[in-house]
Amino acid sequence: MSVKEKVVIIGSGPAGYTAAIYAARAGLKPVLYTGGQPGGQLTTTNDVENFPGYPEGINGPQMMIDLQKQAERFGTRIHYGLVTSVDFSVYPLKLVVDEKDDVLAEAVIIATGASAKYLGIPSEEKFANKGVSACAICDGYFYRGKEVAVVGAGDSAAEESTYLSKLCTKVHLIVRRDEMRASKIMQARVKNTPNIEIHWNTETDEVLGDDTGVTGVRVVNNKTGEKKVIPVQGFFLAIGHKPNTDIFKGYLNMDETGYIKVVPGTTRTNVEGVFAVGDAADKVYRQAVTAAGTGCMGALDAEKFLAAKEMEMAHS
Ligand code: NDP
Repeated sequence: MSVKEKVVIIGSGPAGYTAAIYAARAGLKPVLYTGGQPGGQLTTTNDVENFPGYPEGINGPQMMIDLQKQAERFGTRIHYGLVTSVDFSVYPLKLVVDEKDDVLAEAVIIATGASAKYLGIPSEEKFANKGVSACAICDGYFYRGKEVAVVGAGDSAAEESTYLSKLCTKVHLIVRRDEMRASKIMQARVKNTPNIEIHWNTETDEVLGDDTGVTGVRVVNNKTGEKKVIPVQGFFLAIGHKPNTDIFKGYLNMDETGYIKVVPGTTRTNVEGVFAVGDAADKVYRQAVTAAGTGCMGALDAEKFLAAKEMEMAHS
């Protein structure tokens, strides 16, 4: 047996909860499926200092609890479940939760976010949130006046190194090849910044640390095999993100890396009644506040879609 819903929101980051707050206040009685990481990426951040409205900053997990409460206050039903597959070739749209429960929805708001890529070495995991971060804009401020390392060679690595160079005494950019993938202008900015040192042909062997957190990184030159330790207090990953959109492949238009394409200026996808918000559809800004902003847009777009649909039914 399948459950019928008006609006289903998939994902519980700032985008999903904001969509829920707006949809619930519009009387749409949304149901929100949290996904496998309730609260999303912000639950891996200690302090959020750049979300407007919190002059003293707020702890990431606490912020997500508050957003959840706010969504529930207006009648959002939160379900701890993972949407494991969808069928967007039918209407109402079909979703399968935890591989067993069918849900039919008149509108779906996708807020599944993205996940930062990590190198996959144990020491990186050991010092997560204790010096290891995948977001310089979120966490860079805590390393002001300190020495840090950034891994990566794309636009993110270039941008994050430049950002950190204004806060930190020195930035070591660890690049695995003898060239960077980043755009020429961003590379030039990196190369012209005196306190950024690029370590070419270099890979991370181990993140080093103690009870106080990260104290350094041991790197290896992949041409010569030479190892060395760079003393740093912060270790930033900038090797890309992966949008959590695999289950929508074949139904939704996406770019080559899996970000969902929306009609510019809206959250509409190529499937009627399906809206994409937050990082799943944004590879450029990726901030909590921009995710929340598009979450609001998604709810308003869904509301408009449902109203038009109702009007259509009334006249048919
Ligand atoms: P990219 O996929 O472009 O780059 C990832 C980088 O990480 C590559 O240089 C890659 O090296 C390196 N890398 C991957 N895996 C490893 C590993 N295991 N060890 C070491 N290095 C590794 O990701 P970005 O996040 O930089 O950018 C994603 C998209 O977002 C791009 O289209 C980019 O243009 C865009 N963007 C735009 C910005 C802007 O315009 N302001 C800012 C940020 C991103 P290699 O080159 O050797 O493969």
